[in-house]
Parts: sequence; structure tokens; C-alpha cells
Amino acid sequence: MKDKELKKLIKAEEKRQSEMLDLIPSENIISKGVSEALGSVLANKYSEGYPGKRYYAGNEFADKIENLAKSRAKKVFGLSSNWEVNVQPYSGSPANIAVYLALIPPGGKIMGMSLDMGGHLTHGHKASAVGKLWKQIPYGVDKKTETLNYAEITKIAKKEKPQLIVAGFTAYSKIIDFKKFKAIADSIGAIFMVDMSHFAGLVAGKVYPSPFKYANIIMTTTHKTLRGPRGAMIFSKKEFSEKIDKAIFPGMQGGPHMNQIAATATALYEAGKPEFKSYAKQIVKNAKALADELKKLGWRVISGGTDTHLILIDVFSRGIGGKLASEMLEKAGIVVNKNTIPYDTRNPGDPSGIRLGTPTLTSRGMKEKEMKKIAMLIDGVLTKKRKLEIINKEVKLLCLKFPVRK
Ligand SMILES: *Cc1c(COP(=O)(O)O)cnc(C)c1O
Repeated sequence: MKDKELKKLIKAEEKRQSEMLDLIPSENIISKGVSEALGSVLANKYSEGYPGKRYYAGNEFADKIENLAKSRAKKVFGLSSNWEVNVQPYSGSPANIAVYLALIPPGGKIMGMSLDMGGHLTHGHKASAVGKLWKQIPYGVDKKTETLNYAEITKIAKKEKPQLIVAGFTAYSKIIDFKKFKAIADSIGAIFMVDMSHFAGLVAGKVYPSPFKYANIIMTTTHKTLRGPRGAMIFSKKEFSEKIDKAIFPGMQGGPHMNQIAATATALYEAGKPEFKSYAKQIVKNAKALADELKKLGWRVISGGTDTHLILIDVFSRGIGGKLASEMLEKAGIVVNKNTIPYDTRNPGDPSGIRLGTPTLTSRGMKEKEMKKIAMLIDGVLTKKRKLEIINKEVKLLCLKFPVRK
């Protein structure tokens, strides 16, 4: 690279990633294969349209690559021929908006979990285009159990009669009962959509129930537990797929990012290997070990534990705000994000919780033993029981032992 100024910044970021413990549940480490595809000559090509129906010439290989990504996507999730997939969405947010544009007239009702309970902005929040174009019918979790209350969700759905119900969240660590959601949607004639952005890799690795048996539409990002490039895919039953394709292009997007689609194809190749199953299994084992150890050290884990890669901790129950907690941890070399907890009494800028996750650490090869150690380090930082310099050293040692790329 001739641009020394940028090169220095990328190197600095590389160093930051290699010397810190990344516990942000929506992040991961791409493989060399994914990275190669992203930086390949495919970045040069315009491929507006779909395979066999492009607006520009020269798409012989682009067509093959997009079709490869599609067939691998169907194979990884074990789909029958009544499912279609669109691999062109630039990212998860535009993909969700495209689904709604395709199926729900503006002003219609979309039932999604509210942001402060663990939902995503694009599930209807006012700050998102979704909340401006459609009306969100919010639902949350039970105050006592901090898990989904299906009786309550049924009540809201029957009263409000939304046209679409979306399940699949950004800060919810338990298994979702897709069958119950489907029954609720059916009882009011609504479309049932699952946003599996966070747990797609766990579904691919067969450590989380597959939503394909019940959902009409499934959106997923490709860069979280699935370990692909930043991007998204929309799976849909045949009756919806034509509308969704049109909503993506020409509705929302222009030319697809063919380098990103190629990188998705290779991420799906990796996700189809037996090793990926052990990887997914280890992600969950690690999260359980981390949650258990933090509980032993006196930290309150939201909903009592985790079934996934994700853990929500109520740090304010011990007098520390989420903002301060995340800043203290960052100084020690541990990267997390502050997060609201259900029924939070504080504000989103400084909520009561922090959100932790294990995909990146698991990609680095860490196991339960390291999770116990990391729980101790987190506890040491937040309680100030141990000196920051000592914790910093231990973080660096762990990072050296488990490099970002082997
Ligand atoms: C991450 C995420 C998205 C959005 O993905 P972006 O690529 O950041 O736009 C949508 N829904 C859920 C549930 C997510 O976790």
C-alpha cells in the first residue's frame, strides 16, 4: 500500500485487535479466505440485476459466484426447494427495510421487540426509517423472568393485529420458541419473520433451533456468528421471493457488492464444514462458562443465564453504570458494550448493563478455562479488587497465546 497514512492506521487497528479481548457479541474474525474474496478483483465489477438478468455485460463469473453463494446458503441451512435466498443486501438494516418494503404497505403495523428490551432499531424504533414508515407494535420480555412471555405476546398481537411479526433480537440470550411465534402469527393472519442475525452461525452449527420450519421470511447478517463479510441474506418462501428480490433491486439498492457476495460464498463453505459445528458448540460452551463464573463472583446475569453466545450483565445492581463499566474494562484491554437491560431505569447513554459475547474469543481458540480467567479479570476490574497494571498484563498474555490469526 502506497498510502502510508492509512497503512499506519490499519496497522494500529490490527495491533488493537490483537492486544485486546473482544467480547462484543456482534463481532467476529473473518478468515483469510473471506478476506481474500473481499479484496479481490470482484470489487471492480458492476452486476446490477440478478444472475442471467444483468444490466451490464461481462457478468459470466459474477453470475456463477452469486449462484454459488445462493446454493451454499440453502445447503448450510438444509433448505428444501420451496425456499429462495437473496444474497445481495449490503447489510442487515437495509435488508430488514427491504423485507418490509416488499410486504407491508407504508403505515402498516410491524410487531417487533422494543429496542430497550433487546430488539433491533430496524424492528420498528422511531429513530429508524422503519418507525417513520410503519407503525411499530412493541413487545418486550417478562419483568420477572426477563424472558419472552408468549401469553402476553399473544394478547398484544390479538389486540393490535399487526401484518408482520418479527422475532430474533440483539440482546436476548435465550432460545426463542419459533413454533409459538408462528402459531401467534397464524392466529391473526400475520407474516412471521425471523431476524437471526445474531445466532445464524449457531443455527448453521446446529446448536440453536432452526427457525426455517416455522418462519415465512428469515433475514440474517453474514458477519456475526456466521463469520462472513459484513453483509446480509434474506431467505423467503417462494410466494414472497419475487417481491423481496424487487425490493432489494431496484427498490433499495443498485449494483450488488460482488466481492462481498463472493466472501459470503466462502464463509458459507467454511460454515458447511464439520469443524464449524465444533466451533459453534464451543461458542455456547464458552458463553455458559463465562456466565456461570460471573454469577459465582456475584454478578447478576439477565434472564439467569444464556443459551447462546451472548450474556447481559446488570452491573448497576452493584452500583456501576454501564458506561463507566465499559470504560473501565476498555482501559484494562477488555472490549464490551454498554447495553440497556429489560425495564432499565437509566438512560441508553448510560444504561444499567453491559453485553458480552464469545464468538471472537472462540475464533481465537479460547475455551472454558480461558473464560473462567476472563470472568476473574472482568470482576477484578469492576470491583477494583486487583491492580489495573496486573490485569493489563494478564490480558496481553492471553492475547499472545491466542492470536487473532494463526
Ligand atoms: C446486527 C443486526 C441487524 C443489523 O445489521 P447491520 O449490518 O448492522 O445493519 C439487524 N437485526 C439484528 C437482530 C441484528 O443483530
